[in-house]
Amino acid sequence: MNLFLLLGGPIGLVLLGSYAWRALRARAMDLWLPSYLCQALRGRGPKPGQSVHLLLCIADHFEPGHGSVSHDVAAGRVRAWIESYPKLFEAFRDSDGRPPRHTFFYPLEMYEGSEVEALATLCHQGYGEVEVHLHHDDEDAEGLRARLAAYKELLAARHGLLARDRDTGDIRYGFIHGNWALDNSHPDGRHCGVDNELDILRETGCYADFTMPAAPDPPQTRTINSIYYAIDDPVSPKSHDRGIAVGAAPAPERSLLMIQGPLLLDWRRRKWGLFPRVENGCLQGNQPAHIDRLPAWLKAGVQVPGRPDWFFVKLHTHGAPECNQRVLLGEAMVRFHRSLADLSRRDSKFHFHYVTAREMCNLVRAAEAGWQGDVAGARDYQLVWKDWRHLCGTPPRRDNAKSLA
Ligand SMILES: [Zn+2]
Ligand SMILES: [Zn+2]
Repeated sequence: MNLFLLLGGPIGLVLLGSYAWRALRARAMDLWLPSYLCQALRGRGPKPGQSVHLLLCIADHFEPGHGSVSHDVAAGRVRAWIESYPKLFEAFRDSDGRPPRHTFFYPLEMYEGSEVEALATLCHQGYGEVEVHLHHDDEDAEGLRARLAAYKELLAARHGLLARDRDTGDIRYGFIHGNWALDNSHPDGRHCGVDNELDILRETGCYADFTMPAAPDPPQTRTINSIYYAIDDPVSPKSHDRGIAVGAAPAPERSLLMIQGPLLLDWRRRKWGLFPRVENGCLQGNQPAHIDRLPAWLKAGVQVPGRPDWFFVKLHTHGAPECNQRVLLGEAMVRFHRSLADLSRRDSKFHFHYVTAREMCNLVRAAEAGWQGDVAGARDYQLVWKDWRHLCGTPPRRDNAKSLA
């Protein structure tokens, strides 16, 4: 009996430990929990009484055809966005007097000209911008390069979308990888195939990647809550697993800027009153935007040295399917915007800024360069976007860029 008790305790502990480890691995927490614990021990987020500028970007993996729906259903999903967004949100203004802004990462392989043109109409009213999303599998590098280059030209020439670099006039785009498998990072080898993808993205004009965080999906990186430069190892996958933090050193050559959203444990919102929830910055049917999530987003501390008052919060969503439209184009989102406005009225140290992915990148670059001005003044710091089709066909070039922006 005594022997049974003696062995039972350790065996039970081993079984419990192995169960817990399997549960963590199933949620990709084995990859990011060590980084999280290090960050939590050092302490992140706003200090009591400090000024906070929330830079809020909603990055939407916007797939109207999600679920292999008919063309009519997909068109209806886009129409719902175009019609509802201004009606719901036009009355709201951020601390710069700007309305909410949404970034539609539209999939290259699902391109429908009428859908993109409808989104462009909404964007040209000031409610957002369109960037590049892509799902692929077992693709070769040169095929990918050609498709990205052609898609970039198409979005710019046909729809007046995508940014231009102030100095060179080159077309630039933000990117989100489908199935989170950036740089062939899915452990089962699916959903990509290109080990030198970061290089191809940079060489075709990508200004930053916004794919992470992926948790609970397995392509999650060990680097979390960071804005950093990743350098591609062209013969190995997942080169963005580690990188060099923006502001820690000059931007390395041949690197791609990575802008991550929050990923942490939220101890204020516990499951069954006991276990902390994983806050991964996802907005969807069962994770609506809510002001109660804001402290965790700030605590993630996604920042650039030099601007301790700027908090970069990139959230992600799949906004096209009806189940998510209900919260993104519904009362939950209206309440969230109202709560932000209320908070900034009550607390003179809290400011909030609706930014697109391009503007977020500009703010990163400005902070990195030591910008001490306000947020509004740096929204177009390096990358500018207008509908160049209606400006006498003159996107910026080296000599006239500054005057056009
Ligand atoms: Zn996708
Ligand atoms: Zn890929």
